[in-house]
Parts: sequence; C-alpha cells; structure tokens
Amino acid sequence: MLITHDTECALSILVDLLNTAPEVCGDERLPDVAALDAFVSRQEISEIDSLTEDDLRQVQELRTRLRDVFGTESTEEAAELVNAIVAAAGTTPRLVNHDHHDWHIHYFAPHAALGPHLAAELGMALTFILMAGERERLRRCEAPDCARVFVDLSRNRSRRYCDSRTCGNRLHVAAYRARQRSAEAVAST
Ligand SMILES: [Zn+2]
Ligand SMILES: [Zn+2]
Repeated sequence: MLITHDTECALSILVDLLNTAPEVCGDERLPDVAALDAFVSRQEISEIDSLTEDDLRQVQELRTRLRDVFGTESTEEAAELVNAIVAAAGTTPRLVNHDHHDWHIHYFAPHAALGPHLAAELGMALTFILMAGERERLRRCEAPDCARVFVDLSRNRSRRYCDSRTCGNRLHVAAYRARQRSAEAVAST
C-alpha cells in the first residue's frame, strides 16, 4: 500500500477527531472551545492561533461529514463525499518545513481557520486512501456495543476492532468464557 508517513499522521488525527463524537462515546468529547484547544495541542496542529465558538461548530459539522465516509459502500460514493469536503476547504498545496518536521505539503490555505484546515488535510488523506484503492481500510469497530472508527493499516487488512487492548480483548474474553461455559455444559451431561 502506498501511503506516506504524512498521510498516516493525518489519518491518526482523523480517527482521533471522529472518535470524539457523542454517538461514539455517549457524550460529546469536544463540548467547548477549551476541549477543542486541547485537541489542537494534542495533535500538534500547526498555524492555529486562537479558537472561537465558530471554530467549534465548524469542526463538529466537519466531523459528521468525515464520519459518513467510513460508512460508504463504494469508492464512487466515498469520492463524492471527500471531493465535496476538500472543495469546500479551499485547498492550496504548498511545500513547507517547520518545527522539527522536514519538507512536506500543507494542503490548507495559509491562515485557514481550524474547520477548513482540517477539511483540507484530512480530506486529502482520505483522497490518497481512495486513490490507492483502499477504501475498505476505513472501518467501523465490529464490537457490538462500540461505534468507534479506525483505519486498518495492517498488512492483510485483518483488523476488526478499534483497539486490540480494549474491544478486541474484551471480545476474546467473552468468547473464551462462552467456550468455557459450553465445555462445562458438555462435561455436566
Ligand atoms: Zn506541517
Ligand atoms: Zn471498538
């Protein structure tokens, strides 16, 4: 799979963003500007100064549109959604180096607000995934009570759960207990 390190970084920001949604966690993880600010710091998003309520609303809206891409059934359908997200962002690719990062492309327009900034960067990361024919790597966790999304970057596209330390393990334990119960049932007959 031809996915660059920069795309991988953008995808991890994307997953982090999508999994802050109330339909995922039961509560809104980006409830206010302070939480949005913490997200920006955590993900080291560059060229963002002060944030406002408008930014918060834009990012929450964008989050919904990005999440829809994870539920698509075809690349055509996904491409239409991603193209609309990127088009609305006003992307202007430019080559930059800053902080401890080597030369890379910024897709967001200079001084773009956080919403269009993320729409450009995360939308382009999704574009690269689709272009590589890898839409199926955009997954929703298969655990029955989990609504988290993830990008399966495993070699054989075999990942089924959002995080092996939580959902995967939880289900393995449940399956193990179920096997034990049926073994006990057999033993007692
Ligand atoms: Zn950068
Ligand atoms: Zn999960």
